[in-house]
Amino acid sequence: MSPMPAASASFRCPLCGTDRSTPRQTLGEYTLVQCTGCNLLVRLPVPSPAALHVLYSSRYYGGVEAARFRTAIGTWLREVFRWQRARRLRRALGGLAGRRVLDIGCGRGQMLAWLQHWGAEVYGTELSQAAADEAARRLGPSSVVVNELAEAGFPDGWFDAVTVWHVLEHVLDPVALLREVARVVSPDGFVYVEVPNAGGWAARRLGRRWLGYDAPHHLVHFTPETLRLAGTKAGLVVVKDVHFSWEYSPVTLLQSLLNAWLGGEHMLFRALSHEQHDGNLLRRTKCWQVVVHAAAGIALMLPVLLWSVWLGCRREGDTVGMMFRRISRRREEAGEP
Ligand SMILES: [Zn+2]
Repeated sequence: MSPMPAASASFRCPLCGTDRSTPRQTLGEYTLVQCTGCNLLVRLPVPSPAALHVLYSSRYYGGVEAARFRTAIGTWLREVFRWQRARRLRRALGGLAGRRVLDIGCGRGQMLAWLQHWGAEVYGTELSQAAADEAARRLGPSSVVVNELAEAGFPDGWFDAVTVWHVLEHVLDPVALLREVARVVSPDGFVYVEVPNAGGWAARRLGRRWLGYDAPHHLVHFTPETLRLAGTKAGLVVVKDVHFSWEYSPVTLLQSLLNAWLGGEHMLFRALSHEQHDGNLLRRTKCWQVVVHAAAGIALMLPVLLWSVWLGCRREGDTVGMMFRRISRRREEAGEP
């Protein structure tokens, strides 16, 4: 077996290609830098593709069922949110009969299972073998590709919708992924991309306490401006943007505030999720600390929810989602050559 290539501490912006950056934050053993060319935030050192593949193929999801959360309530809420995603997509597509949908990083396939149930032809890509096995059990083996999208070989313009939910911040070359997405979506179809918003209030005010930095998983951090630029570089244009997510925004704000006020390195989030690579941190955590954080979390739930909605209305929330279409399609609509 050949040795794994080392991570790279040198900077090369995956969005604009410049090699100049300014340090912005220290995130434990990592440094967050901002590209001087396009303002993209990048976490250094950058892992090798091989190390990244190992992280997602075997360690991101835990347990025999490949769940991301270790509690029943976490798993149940995840199912509810996947149903909600599916409903949003059905509405955006105006019906699902005969429609073809691709989900990048489909996890256990919960959202795709709803879409399939409602009549769509569904496909997903997933790097975790355990999660992909579960998705294949739900959707059928031909629906799940256990590989990168570029290796899947889908035909040009094959899909009516492609979704990239909280995946782009995990990849080494987001523009390359979006280019491939733009290739496989039909000229009439759309692409929906959602990421944590590193330009939001909490990310700007709470610094390294912001949950969305999520080292070591998140490699790049987008603002609405840099997400729009990534789409443009890939041949996509924004037709709609969304600044609040029931699934991510309130929980990100709540955990970030608990980090700022009580300390504890994302204690509640880590206590509830499978973090196999970070078992030492969980073992160091005392039971009473989790109880204090849980009590504070419950007490703050409603005010933080309202705060999160308000931040979303101001376009400063903890997530940003963008619906894109292919630029060529928009030019045709405008009558341009
Ligand atoms: Zn850049």
